[in-house]
Amino acid sequence: MARPKFIFLLLSVVAAVWLSKFFKIAQSLKMVAVDHLYAKELKIASLAVKRASVLTKGLSDSIVELSKSGTQIKNDKSPVTVGDYASQALINKAIKLSFPDDNIVGEEDSLSLKDGSEEANALSKRILDLLSETQQKTGKSSEDLGELKDLKEVYESIDFGNYEGGSKGRFWALDPIDGTKGFLRGDQFAVCLALIEDGKVVLGVIGCPNLPEHIVLNDKQSGTKGGLFSAVKGVGSFYTPLFETDEFVPLKDQEKIKMTSETSSATLKVVEGVEKGHSSHSTQSQIKLKLGFSEDTVAQQTINLDSQVKYCVLAKGQADIYLRLPVSDTYREKIWDHAAGYILIYESGGQVGDIGGQALDFGKGRQLDSKGVIAANKAIFPKVIEAVKDVLSQDA
Ligand code: AMP
Ligand code: MG
Repeated sequence: MARPKFIFLLLSVVAAVWLSKFFKIAQSLKMVAVDHLYAKELKIASLAVKRASVLTKGLSDSIVELSKSGTQIKNDKSPVTVGDYASQALINKAIKLSFPDDNIVGEEDSLSLKDGSEEANALSKRILDLLSETQQKTGKSSEDLGELKDLKEVYESIDFGNYEGGSKGRFWALDPIDGTKGFLRGDQFAVCLALIEDGKVVLGVIGCPNLPEHIVLNDKQSGTKGGLFSAVKGVGSFYTPLFETDEFVPLKDQEKIKMTSETSSATLKVVEGVEKGHSSHSTQSQIKLKLGFSEDTVAQQTINLDSQVKYCVLAKGQADIYLRLPVSDTYREKIWDHAAGYILIYESGGQVGDIGGQALDFGKGRQLDSKGVIAANKAIFPKVIEAVKDVLSQDA
């Protein structure tokens, strides 16, 4: 009688040993999955984007407060100008401190700040004040990101962004405030930073200071505001709250995010810009109808958001398609407007192309050669491109 008991005990011990081994292997696999070549780049990029998000969120909130009280002059663009310059200065400073040999393609340059005019001097002073206030608020990151102390250093730092880009070597692409219209309205905007090697995006970090956790419809959005999105080539795309901690959150403690695989026109959701001057809303409408959306529900299936926040919402699986149809034949998209979003979509299992479905090429200089941007989950992407081609050939 003692024998079966003994066998049972022995089997239990063997099972326990195997289970513990299995968990150890699973744990080490998880470690391997987030262990990568760009650990330092990701940490510095994340901390710098976080610091710039604190700075820009404060400005955007103050504009909204002032306009509520009627103090803000409607077309006063100076807050966004100050924010753009300050954000670019602090991010470039951080990159150069850790990676002195890297180049940067940034949207802004300091020329107009240095013309000696009263306006330029006043703007410069506001930039420096804002930087010192933000550096104080986010003092913990100063060891990793450095600090800007005077205007000479601020101008120099902004102008590190003058690189021309290209297909060889390594450089960063920075949009210090993407979606300036959204920023001024107190809606969506983003701080976007990407690392490009030999024309290919290998890392992207996007800070979305006003993005709520849950985006369902244009008028159904809720949850804490502020999301930080990161993607590393071959590793995946990740999400973590933007303002929960000042510190860098390692990828293993972030949420791995995935695109949908939705294909039904009855439930597909499309993200588009808010500004009709940046993408053709009428062509986008025709494409949705071509894809089989019903006229009765198409408005409910469309979410309008400024900036690269659209890529983030898609990567998180809250929508399925992003349509950006060109409004003009001559406009060329800028690399800083798409590089970080592009890798976020690929690493979450989606696909991005131009209006012909061709991959975007980030090695052509400061601009993309191609026209328009279409992003979608892999299952629906070919059908979307087919619909885009059909509609554009009718229009021609
Ligand atoms: P969105 O918020 O998606 O409308 O995109 C904002 C970005 O659109 C800005 O960063 C601008 O650089 C860019 N933009 C400006 N003019 C155009 C245009 N005519 N077509 C496409 N994008 C544009
Ligand atoms: Mg932009």
